[in-house]
Amino acid sequence: MIQDIAPRTFNNNFKNKTAKPQDLFLSYEGDTVLVREDKSKLWYPSFSDFEEIGYINLIDNAQFLFSIDDINYYLTDKKGLDSAEGWSYVSTKRFMTEPKYWRSFAGVVGWQLNRWYGNHRFCSKCAKSIKHSKKERMLYCESCGFQTYPTISPCVIIAVHNGDRLLLTKYAGRKYTKYALIAGFAEIGESLEQTVRREVKEEVGLKVKNLKFYGSQPWPFTDTLLVGFFAELDGDDTITIQEDELSLGVWMKREDVPLEEINISLTGEMMKAFRTRFITL
Ligand SMILES: [Zn+2]
Repeated sequence: MIQDIAPRTFNNNFKNKTAKPQDLFLSYEGDTVLVREDKSKLWYPSFSDFEEIGYINLIDNAQFLFSIDDINYYLTDKKGLDSAEGWSYVSTKRFMTEPKYWRSFAGVVGWQLNRWYGNHRFCSKCAKSIKHSKKERMLYCESCGFQTYPTISPCVIIAVHNGDRLLLTKYAGRKYTKYALIAGFAEIGESLEQTVRREVKEEVGLKVKNLKFYGSQPWPFTDTLLVGFFAELDGDDTITIQEDELSLGVWMKREDVPLEEINISLTGEMMKAFRTRFITL
């Protein structure tokens, strides 16, 4: 999965530290990220790369993000850095296909934080300017005391199984056309177990029992924390899809469950776990 970057270690401890020239920085414009053009990998700039070509003030306003091993990552909100020769903005879709997960994970977590900082420039309570805390990853308003932290929304992924068959779905009206598992956001006042039962009922009209927690995954693409469950069909196996959400819902035999080559997602890993009998149900 995209967060599995061992032997490297992601460290999200917040540091109030001025960047050094060798530190890396991430620069985004919408859904694009700045990388070196002549590298096939996601190659992020260091401050010294840009100092050498005359960009001397980037360090001053950079926001510390996180570190991976001893490499610190910062965020700059300076735009138009692709005017520097050799650098260009590429689609953040590249995070989905980069085989070196630590590069894509750094890029996508930075992108989530970039959206959060960018969407909170003013206090949502009193509309004054927002300040960056020096102690933690938090924004606050000096005028009214409002505080805000990065958005993380819990979402369940559910592998519904019935003997040797797994329930696979396809989304309606999305570019993503591969098989998926049932998924949905937790709603207000709900436990994750209740979310599982509600989503399965809503999306395919089935009942489930014997929920088993499988694992979880940060999914910074959508500010989400994914929580994976296996759940056993309870009763009738007739699938009735919710047509505005899904285009397809099928019971797939274990040996026919598709496997992904690059497996960044919890969904892919859960499908593989079922297919390879990695889990006992
Ligand atoms: Zn305020």
